[in-house]
Amino acid sequence: RLQSTSNKGLPLESYKPEPWMMHLGSKTAEKSLLNLVVVGHVDAGKSTLMGRILYSLGRVSHKEMHKNTKEANEMGKGSFAYAWALDEGVEERARGVTITVAVAHFETAKLRVVLLDAPGHKDFVPNMISGASQADAAVLVVDAAEGGFEAGMGAEGRESGQTREHAQLVRSLGVSQLVVAVNKMDEVQYSQERFEEIKRILTPFLRHCGFRDSSVSYVPVSAIAGENLVSTPSDELFRAWYTGKDGTLLDALNRLEPPERDIAKPFRLAVAEVVRSRSLGSAAAGGKVESGAIKIGSKVMVMPSREVGVVKSLEQDGKALQAARAGDGVDIGLQGVDAGVIVPGGVLCHPDYPVPIATRFELRILTLKLAFPMLPGAQVVVHAHHAKEPGTVTNLTALIDAKTGQAVKRSPRCLTSNQSALVEVAPERGLCVQEYIKFRGLGRVVLRSEGRTLAVGIITRIISYQ
Ligand code: GDP
Repeated sequence: RLQSTSNKGLPLESYKPEPWMMHLGSKTAEKSLLNLVVVGHVDAGKSTLMGRILYSLGRVSHKEMHKNTKEANEMGKGSFAYAWALDEGVEERARGVTITVAVAHFETAKLRVVLLDAPGHKDFVPNMISGASQADAAVLVVDAAEGGFEAGMGAEGRESGQTREHAQLVRSLGVSQLVVAVNKMDEVQYSQERFEEIKRILTPFLRHCGFRDSSVSYVPVSAIAGENLVSTPSDELFRAWYTGKDGTLLDALNRLEPPERDIAKPFRLAVAEVVRSRSLGSAAAGGKVESGAIKIGSKVMVMPSREVGVVKSLEQDGKALQAARAGDGVDIGLQGVDAGVIVPGGVLCHPDYPVPIATRFELRILTLKLAFPMLPGAQVVVHAHHAKEPGTVTNLTALIDAKTGQAVKRSPRCLTSNQSALVEVAPERGLCVQEYIKFRGLGRVVLRSEGRTLAVGIITRIISYQ
C-alpha cells in the first residue's frame, strides 16, 4: 500500500498533463455540457417557459403534455400544463454532480443543456441553491406585465422581490453568465418600449450585483404563446420591431460559454457517492471529474484519508471505459485501498497534487434573509460540493461592495440580511476544498443552520491546512 505524507504536494503550476490526456478530447465530437439553472420571482413563468421549450424541442411528448394538461385542468390550474412537464421526461441523468438536481435536458446547436432543479413556489431558496451551486449559467425570468416586473423587483415597499434576491444569489455562487428572459410580452402587446424599460432598469441593477454587461443578454418572449422561444416571433406586433438580430431564447442559450474542460489541471473528482457493484470491486466511487483525466492503471489519492490506490475499472452508466476526463460523470473502482476510506464529500486526486484538507478558509459570501444577525463565533453547517461539516464563522473580515469586491467596512460587528462580506470559517474536521478561482466545482460554499440557508459564496483563500 502506498501512502503519501505530503500535505500540500507540488505547486499546481508545475503540473504538466500527460500526452495521452490531450488526445482524449479529439475523438469525441460530442456537444459541450452546460448546467443551467432557471431563477426568478414566483409566477414570473419559469416552469411554463422551460416546459414549453422542452415540449417544442420534443423532449416531452404530446401525450404526456395532454395528460398533464388534463390533470392540471382538473386541479383548476390549466396554465400549469407546461409547468407539469418538468416533472417528467428525465430519461437520462448524468452521474455525480447533476444526479440530485437535474430535471431535464435539451440541446442547442452547440450545447447539451442540463436543466437543474426547477425551483418550487415556496421554500424556494434552499431548493435553488442545490441547483445554482452547480450551474454554469442562469436564466433569469422576469414578468413584463404591468406591475409584474415591479413586484419582482420588490417595488413599493412590498416584501423584497425574488428577482433581486435570485440574481444576487446566483452571482454570489460564481455564476457570471445570465440570460434575462423578459416573459409575458403578450400581456403588454409585445411593446418594445416596455422591453426597453425593463432592460434599462435591470442593466445597472445587474451590474451592481457583479454581472458584466457583456455577459448578460435580454430576450423578449411569451412562454404561453410560445413566441421567440425556439423559433422567430410570429406575432405581427412583435415582428414589427424585433428584427431577430439577437435571436430567440434558444439562440441566446446557444451563445453561452460552456465551462472549460480543465484537462490541463491535475485530476480531481468530488465523490458524490460510494458505489457498490461487483464489476467495480469493493472500493468504488461515483462522481464528476472536475479536472484532469485518468485511465485504467492511473494512481489516485483518496482524500481525506491520503491513501493511494490504482484505477482498476472505470464505468459510465454501466459501460466500461478506458479513460475519463474533466466533465465526465464516472464510477471508479480502485485497487489497493480500503473500501472504508471512500466517503461522499471526499475527493479523489492526483497523488502529487493532492487537494488541500482545509481547516480554515476565507469566503466571499452573500447573506440571505437572516432571522438573527450573524456574529463572530456563529455555528453553521458548511456545505461544499458533496461535503457537509459543522463549523464556526471565526471572523467577520469585512463588508464588501458586490460589484467591485472592495472592502467598504473592516471588521463589522455583525452581518445582517442581504450583505456581501468576507468571512473566515473553520470546519470542525478538515474539508477537501479549493479556491473557487482554481477549481470551480470545489470552491462553492453554502452556510446553513437548522435547515435554513444563511449565506452562499465562494472560497477566496485557504488559510490553514491539515
Ligand atoms: P413560476 O412560478 O415562475 O414557475 O411561474 P409559472 O410557470 O407557474 O407561471 C405563473 C403564471 O404565469 C401561470 O398562471 C402561467 O400561466 C402564467 N404565465 C407564464 N408565462 C406566461 C406568458 O408568457 N404570458 C402570460 N400571459 N402568462 C404567462
